Amino acid sequence: MLTNQNGNDIYSFNIDKFYRNYLKGPSLFRKREALEPSFIPDELPHRNSEIEKIAGITACALKGDVPPNFLCYGMTGTGKTATVRYVSQKLAQHCTNNPPWWIYINCTVVSTPYRILAHIYNTIVGREKIPATGLPKDVILKKLLGLLDQKVKNSVCFLVLDEIDILIEKKGGNEILYTLTRLNESLDLCRTSVIGISNKLKFMEYLDSRVTSNLDEEEPIVFHPYNANELADILKLRAKIAFHEGIIEEGVIKLCAGLAAREHGDARKALQLLRKAGEIAERNQNKKILEKHVENAQKDIDKDHIVEYMISMPLQAQLALTAIFLLSKYTREHIITSGDIYEVHSELTNKVPGVKQLTHRRISDYINELALSGLITANTRSMGHYGRTKIINLDIESELVERVLSQIKKIQDYKLLNYKPILLQTDKVKVKNIVFKKLI
Ligand code: ADP
Ligand code: MG
Repeated sequence: MLTNQNGNDIYSFNIDKFYRNYLKGPSLFRKREALEPSFIPDELPHRNSEIEKIAGITACALKGDVPPNFLCYGMTGTGKTATVRYVSQKLAQHCTNNPPWWIYINCTVVSTPYRILAHIYNTIVGREKIPATGLPKDVILKKLLGLLDQKVKNSVCFLVLDEIDILIEKKGGNEILYTLTRLNESLDLCRTSVIGISNKLKFMEYLDSRVTSNLDEEEPIVFHPYNANELADILKLRAKIAFHEGIIEEGVIKLCAGLAAREHGDARKALQLLRKAGEIAERNQNKKILEKHVENAQKDIDKDHIVEYMISMPLQAQLALTAIFLLSKYTREHIITSGDIYEVHSELTNKVPGVKQLTHRRISDYINELALSGLITANTRSMGHYGRTKIINLDIESELVERVLSQIKKIQDYKLLNYKPILLQTDKVKVKNIVFKKLI
């Protein structure tokens, strides 16, 4: 067991005991994957009209005709991916001969024109035939056309471009969309149809007009955000599959639905809350999922967002946060002002080669951003003859800040988290601090 210099246990978590108790504890989940985003339920409540529209557009594939290209719009978690996948399964069930192919392309993962062509090709042949890089694009395209005519003979191949908005922001995005929406002109026996799914409603504005005319043969299908009651219906159905009977306390579903409705009616968020609440209850050996578990799940999710945010901040903002962390670490008494942060930030930049010192103005901008994101509070106060200044407090646990900052390479390499600011040792600052304390 790990001990520090005083011989005290600093790590007393007993993993063996934890697992033994966990196994002995109640099992709440019947089928955990039913709460995963990739799970496709047998029913999609409150998506009737969208299902009807997509079924209508794609039905002609059953008779060997070519469905038009079309788009689905809506915020994240409004059921776009689930609905398209659901319809594709149903369509397959009603096909007697030459069932259509469905190729899913998640443009956040497969995002370059080359990789999209390679992905379609490799999915049809069922293995990695085309390497991740290397061939000229026109060569792959030619191979792909040949393959489509051969393998998807007398049938339709749906190309679902999910998160298509990501593609448009990339180099060559418009061009590959143009190519994919015009494949039929170069095919003899196979027919293709593109379904674009976008989280951004404004995405059409970024499209080349040549592509727009290929994609808007049909009215786009708009997925509206769910309200709290609709989310509750979705959750109830999923909970029935995911959990054993009678283990959800009344109010839990309503709370998850209400919290997710506040965030633009996101069903993914609602399901994530319920799953996490279940996991927390199970870890705590509770026999039921209670509202307090949902509240804790929400806290966990918020924490995950904060961690992600801190990791993705620019280095200069991370250094400003490091300065705040150090100021609060070495003296709990110290009242932190924006001037202090400027000074310590400058000290830190001197330690890291290639990082520029910032102006007061830029530091002030970063402080405002950190405050907006909820990591710190910054209140402007009048401090006698020192004038007006911002008083800064860290708003989240300093252990969490330390844990995240210690993962940033430059901060770790130059051991910035162990650095003791010179500023704290100057008399000027000590005097100022005494005055400030009286004023606050
Ligand atoms: P989008 O693609 O719009 O971001 P998804 O289709 O991925 O949203 O849906 C997110 C999650 O919510 C998935 O787990 C999905 O199964 C579920 N979901 C969305 N709408 C419904 C619905 N009407 N009924 C049941 N589950 C739904
Ligand atoms: Mg989606």
